[in-house]
Amino acid sequence: MKRKTKMVHGGITGDEKTGAVSVPIYQVSTYRQPEAGKHTGYEYSRTGNPTRHALETVTAELENGTAGFAFASGMAAITSVMMLLKAGDHVVLTDDVYGGTYRLTTKVLDRIDLSHTFVDTSDVEAVEAAIKPTTKMLYIETPTNPLLKVTDLKKMKEIADKHDLLLVVDNTFATPYLQTPLDLGTDIVLHSATKYIGGHSDVVAGLVVVKNDQLAEDIHFIQNSVGAVLGPQDAWLLMRGIKTLGLRMEAIEKNANKIASYLDQHPAVEKVYYPGLATHAGHDITNQQAQGFGGMIAFDVGSGEKADHVLSKVDFFTLAESLGAVESLISIPARMTHASIPKDRREELGITDGLIRLSIGIEDVDDLIEDLAKGLN
Ligand SMILES: *Cc1c(COP(=O)(O)O)cnc(C)c1O
Repeated sequence: MKRKTKMVHGGITGDEKTGAVSVPIYQVSTYRQPEAGKHTGYEYSRTGNPTRHALETVTAELENGTAGFAFASGMAAITSVMMLLKAGDHVVLTDDVYGGTYRLTTKVLDRIDLSHTFVDTSDVEAVEAAIKPTTKMLYIETPTNPLLKVTDLKKMKEIADKHDLLLVVDNTFATPYLQTPLDLGTDIVLHSATKYIGGHSDVVAGLVVVKNDQLAEDIHFIQNSVGAVLGPQDAWLLMRGIKTLGLRMEAIEKNANKIASYLDQHPAVEKVYYPGLATHAGHDITNQQAQGFGGMIAFDVGSGEKADHVLSKVDFFTLAESLGAVESLISIPARMTHASIPKDRREELGITDGLIRLSIGIEDVDDLIEDLAKGLN
């Protein structure tokens, strides 16, 4: 089955009993047992729910993994994956991971004696140098937010093999339509499904897919023990989102390519960050390990005042955090998603006051370009 067909026909489709073509929402917590100790495959919805199971099955197929798991948020998914580790273990992470992952690692996991090192994982030697005898996990986000830095996943797999590390990839920005890290040897892939997979700014959810049965057993044990599961209604919304994920990503990427080229030649724009541009540092690796460049663009207009001017002129870009939906969003990382990072460190990373981040939607690209032109010209 090709990618786009899988999104429509993959996993568990419809309902055998009634012929309904959409998986029913099993709004239920417990299940009648034919006799004590025997059950139909479902006993309690924290452990398993048919709607959630249908979502988990299609997600596993999309990522070419053995099993999928749905959580109440991306952060719940990440926390559950971290629970594979134990006190005293050390994790090496991409230095510009999602802010919530940074907070979880430095302010929560730290308390239970899980230590960490943040490195620029696009620098293979730096990753190698960060490994300690206690390192158990290599946690990669690629491409990253907001500068779209790309990490070479094949190289990470070599390091993980050499040091016997679990390789985990946050695949939120690329989506399983454009990148399937398990095919490159990654052990665990996770998503904030709140973003592209849901795709309509209406659900908060997280997904995990693993490559083998042992990890499937381990993650299911944690999912059931910790209990941060996704409800059936939200699972159903994600399945609906997945059916058009291929279509949406194609439309979004087409728009993003045009907008990145437009910004790249504009005299009022100092720098554009988009992996689809041949000048982007991660362009060649993206070509090797992914099927596309995605829908996130960042660009620098030189100052906070100029960025504000752009914001004041746009009609079709909504000023908001989050990303990956059908509607285009605009944000200023330095004052929004990355405000908690000290200014010096921000400037060092390239997250300047004039940096604008776009999450491109499926609107007509001419409207989007005209919108940006009003603020730039
Ligand atoms: C949003 C996001 C998360 C966190 O997901 P939530 O669903 O908001 O909990 C994790 N990683 C990345 C890359 C994200 O963009």
